[in-house]
Amino acid sequence: MLRLNDIVERVQATRPSANIELIHKAYVFTAKVHHGQLRLSGEPYLIHPLNVAYILAEWNLDEETVATGLLHDTVEDTVASGEEVRELFGDTVSQMVDGVTKISRVVISDVADQKAESLRKMILAMGKDLRVVLVKLADRLHNMRTIGHLSPDKQVAVARETREIYTPIASRLGMARVKMEMEDRCFEVLHPEDFRELTRMADERKRDRESHIRNVVEILEKKIRESGFEAQVNGRSKHIAGLFEKMARQGIDFDHVYDFIGFRIVVKSLRECYEALGIVHSLWKPVPARFKDYIAMPKANLYQSLHTTVFGPNAELMEIQIRTEEMHALAEYGVAAHWKYKEGRPVVGKGDQMFLWLRQILELQQEMKDPGEFLNTVKVELFPEEVYVFTPRGDVKELPRGATTIDFAYAVHTEVGNQCVGAKVNGKMVPLKTVLKNGDVIEIVTHPAHKPSKDWLKIASTSRALNKIRAVVRQEQQEGSLALGRQILDRELRKYSLSLNKVLKSKEFEETLQETRLKTADDYCIALGYGKMSMFPLLRKIVPPEQLQEKVKESTLGALIKRVTTRKPSAIVVKGMDDIFIRIGNCCNPVPGDPIVGFITRGRGVTIHSRDCPKALENDPVRAIDVAWEAGTKAAHPVKLKVVCADKPGLLADISRTITASDVDIRRAVVTTTRDKRAVCNFEVSVNDAKHLSGLIKSIEKLKSVYSVERGKG
Ligand code: MN
Repeated sequence: MLRLNDIVERVQATRPSANIELIHKAYVFTAKVHHGQLRLSGEPYLIHPLNVAYILAEWNLDEETVATGLLHDTVEDTVASGEEVRELFGDTVSQMVDGVTKISRVVISDVADQKAESLRKMILAMGKDLRVVLVKLADRLHNMRTIGHLSPDKQVAVARETREIYTPIASRLGMARVKMEMEDRCFEVLHPEDFRELTRMADERKRDRESHIRNVVEILEKKIRESGFEAQVNGRSKHIAGLFEKMARQGIDFDHVYDFIGFRIVVKSLRECYEALGIVHSLWKPVPARFKDYIAMPKANLYQSLHTTVFGPNAELMEIQIRTEEMHALAEYGVAAHWKYKEGRPVVGKGDQMFLWLRQILELQQEMKDPGEFLNTVKVELFPEEVYVFTPRGDVKELPRGATTIDFAYAVHTEVGNQCVGAKVNGKMVPLKTVLKNGDVIEIVTHPAHKPSKDWLKIASTSRALNKIRAVVRQEQQEGSLALGRQILDRELRKYSLSLNKVLKSKEFEETLQETRLKTADDYCIALGYGKMSMFPLLRKIVPPEQLQEKVKESTLGALIKRVTTRKPSAIVVKGMDDIFIRIGNCCNPVPGDPIVGFITRGRGVTIHSRDCPKALENDPVRAIDVAWEAGTKAAHPVKLKVVCADKPGLLADISRTITASDVDIRRAVVTTTRDKRAVCNFEVSVNDAKHLSGLIKSIEKLKSVYSVERGKG
C-alpha cells in the first residue's frame, strides 16, 4: 500500500523547498474524516486520496495541489465541512477542494445537451484555480484504474463519461500520457472483446518487436554518440485504443499497421533535435510527405517535436519523434509539466498559454447570455470530430462530421425529417445533401404531405436518420403491396363471383391463415402483393375443383413478375422456380459461396444481395425470399478488389501476374498513388466463387510491400 512517505519523497525530489507540513496536515485530516469508510474493493477509503495525491506528485505539481488531492473527497463524502477545510488549510486549498466537489456533483449522463452542461459546470468550477482540473483528472485516472470493483452498468457509464469529457480535456491540455491511459482503460470497459483480441495479438508479436526495438535503438545510439552528443532513445508500441482507432479509420488489419512501434529521441538542445534528424535521415530514407516540424509550428496544445517516418532496417515504415527534454515533459504531462520548471504558482508561461483557451471560454461564459452559443464554443474546442449547428431558435444540435441537412432534420424531430422538402443554411436555400459546418444555422422547410425518398438513404449519415427513412420506405412498400395483393385477390375471386370481404371473413380463410402462419388478412394480402405466396391453397378450399381455372398456377409470381426470357440466369436457385429474372446487386456483387438473400422487385424479378449488404437492409424483410447458389456452377462473377501497396516499380506487374496465375481475369485496373508513397490499385476481376476469391486475396497478400487487400464495396 502507498504510504504518505512515498508522496512526500516524490514531491521533495522535484521541489526541495516544498511545504511538506501542509501535506502532512492534509493527510492527518483526511485519515481522520475518512476513518472507517471502505472502498467497494473492501480496502480502506484512504487508499483513494493517497493515490490521487501520488499521481499529482508524479506530475510534479506543487504541495497545494497535492494536499488538495488528499482532501478532494472530504467535503463530498464525509462529515467535514468546507468551512473546516478553509480554517485548517487556507483559501487556496479550500477553493480547490470546493471546485473538485462541484465537478463531482455533476450528474453522469451521455445525453448530448447534458454532456455540454456538465462541461460548462466543470469549466466554471475550474474558474477559480485551474489546478482544480488537474486534481479532477488525477481523481478520474485513479477511479479508472480501480473501475473493476463497480457494477458492469456503472463501469460503462463512468467509462463513457471519461471518454466524452475527461479524455478530450487531458488531450487539450497536452497530457498525452493521461489521455492514452484513459483511452485504453475506457476501451477495455467499452469494447472488452476487441481489447482482449488486440492485446493478445500484440503479445504474440512481443518477442519480434522487442528485438526490432533493441536493434533500432542500438543503431541510433551509436550514430548519435559518434556525432558527439547524448540522447535517450527508446521505442514502444502504440497504445491499444490508438491502434484500434487507426485500424478502424484506415480499414486495415493488425498486420498492416506499419507504425505500430514508434521511436523517440530525446536530446538536450534545440540544435541537437535537427542534428538527430539529419542522422536519422542519413541512416534511413525518409517518406517526404510524413515529415512534420512541430518545433517550428507547435500544435494548438503547444506540443513540440519533429516527426519523421522512414523506411527502417528491413524497409518497413517506422515513425521517429525527436525533441528536447523540456518538450518531452510537455508532450507527456502537458500543462502539468509547467510546474516542474517554475516554483510555486505559475506566472506567465507556456502553462498559462495552455489554459488560455479555458480562460477565454470562461470570459465568453460571462459575456454570452445565450447558453447555446457558449456550449457551441466549448464543444468545438473539445470535440473536433463533431459539428455543432443551430436551429433558427438558437438550439444547438450536435452531429457527426459529414452530416447533411437531412440528418439535421431528423435530429430535430422525426416528423420534421419525414416532411422535409428543402433546407436553408444561414438563410440560403441549399440542396439537401449539403454537408453541415460548425456554427451553421439551419432551417428546414417542411410540407405535411411530403414523404421521405429512398434516395435519402444515400445522403443521410446518422443512424437515427437512416433508421427513420428505412422505416418509412418499408412502410410504403408494404402499403403498396397490401393494395396490390387485395386487388389481385379481388380480381381472381370475381371470376367465381365471390366477394373479397366475405371470403376474408370465411372459416376457410381462417384455416389458410393458420396454415400459412400469417396473423391477419392484411399480412396475407401483403404476402400476395409481394408475390411471396400463391392464392391457390385458398381457392382450392372455396372453389369447386371443376370450376378452378387452369391458369392459376402454383406460383402467382408469374402474375407479378414480367417473365424475361434471358440466357439461363446466374447460378442461383429461387425456391425451385425456374423462369424468374434474376439480377445480381451491383452494390455488393456476391459470388457463389457468399451468403445471399433475394428480394422480390415488382416487375423486375428478384434481386440478389449479400446478406450484409446495406442495400439488403433497406428492403422490407417481408419481400425477402430464400435463394441459394446452384451447386457446381462455374460462371465468372465480377468482383472489385482494392489493393494498397508501396508505390514501387514492378509491384503492379507482380500483382497482375499473381492475379492471372490464380486463373482470374482482370477486367479493369485503376491505380492511384498517394503522397506517402503508397499505391491504391482498384481491380475488377472475374472469379468463380468465394473460395476462388479468398485464394486470390491470400496470394496477393503474400506479396512483399502489399499492405492490404480488400474486397471492394459499391
Ligand atoms: Mn475521488
